[in-house]
Amino acid sequence: MPGMDEAEIQTPCLLVDLDALDRNIARMQALADEMGVRLRIHGKMHKSADIARLQISAGACGICCQKVSEAEAFVRAGIPDVLVSNQIRDPAKIDRLARLPGRGARVGVCVDDLANVAELSEAAMRHGTWLDVMVEIDCGAGRCGVAPGRPAVELAKAVREAPNLNFAGLQAYHGGAQHVRDYRDRKSRIDAAVLKVRETLDLLEAAGIDCPHVTGAGTGTFALEGRSGVYTELQCGSYAFMDADYQRIRDETGAPIRDFENALFILTSVMSHVKPDEAVCDAGLKAQSVDSGLPVVFGRNDVEYVAGADEHGQIRDPGGALKINDKLRLVPGHCDPTCNVHDWYVGVRGGKVEAVWPITARGKAY
Ligand code: PLP
Ligand code: MN
Repeated sequence: MPGMDEAEIQTPCLLVDLDALDRNIARMQALADEMGVRLRIHGKMHKSADIARLQISAGACGICCQKVSEAEAFVRAGIPDVLVSNQIRDPAKIDRLARLPGRGARVGVCVDDLANVAELSEAAMRHGTWLDVMVEIDCGAGRCGVAPGRPAVELAKAVREAPNLNFAGLQAYHGGAQHVRDYRDRKSRIDAAVLKVRETLDLLEAAGIDCPHVTGAGTGTFALEGRSGVYTELQCGSYAFMDADYQRIRDETGAPIRDFENALFILTSVMSHVKPDEAVCDAGLKAQSVDSGLPVVFGRNDVEYVAGADEHGQIRDPGGALKINDKLRLVPGHCDPTCNVHDWYVGVRGGKVEAVWPITARGKAY
């Protein structure tokens, strides 16, 4: 509860260092402002309307999310501008999406297929709403997205002609570049993506089609897209919390990224220490995602999280430093899927609980 000492917090839980969060939010906004691009933060990372509001207050133009259920949760919580940076094809979900602007929010979605344009338009007409539509191009990740160039222009034309749809621009997100460790390797992927965007923008211009925005980028590459001269909007998510995997990527000097700091931790307690050199903590696989590796124990190099079971974490403690009920801060390997398995963020500042925020769109993966 707010007002409690940090020592009283029940574990395992997600702890947010509010000073670090504030600094990360301010830093990314300052960088976006400096580069002259908008920041549309990715809400799928924290899934929290409270944190999205902090980011919008700091200057973000709105949020992204990936699923209709997430968009519904954010709109219900009062977030005024939500882009579903993804394709929505199920008729029932299209219907729900098209209903959302009626609740007072600006709502966008991505398309990479002509048939989807007609589906979205029909649904928006049925509900008397308007949807912003971004044509997604595959700029190198090989996930969703139409081919750059002519196919993208054809789709943009169809969007412009479809009733109740606004052509809002291009989405060119390179998911395959974000976590690449080496800076030059990341840069060459984004350089190639920029060429594909530029080629598409030139063809749009030749066809007399105004392209209001080019959106994309994540925490690993945003400075490249931001300075490209073609992207106008960044979709970074993880920078607000950071995670162990993002701290493994390197900048042009070979150093870890210094702009952002750890703001998210899994707070865990030692529950068993039968063997002198091995402790067991209460944060296992159900308290985190380990798809990007095991968590790293924050601020200590004398102990190491070496294995996880459903409800247990095994901590190597060669010096026998840990005692029962000692607390550790774990930095999760991957922040997004870790946040999705908790109900609350416990925000702390100066050793006290300041905020307890529900994870608004937790579990909303549909
Ligand atoms: N945009 C899209 C479409 C994404 O899928 C993601 C993450 O996977 C992001 C932006 C944000 O990435 P990050 O959390 O790495 O900043
Ligand atoms: Mn992620």
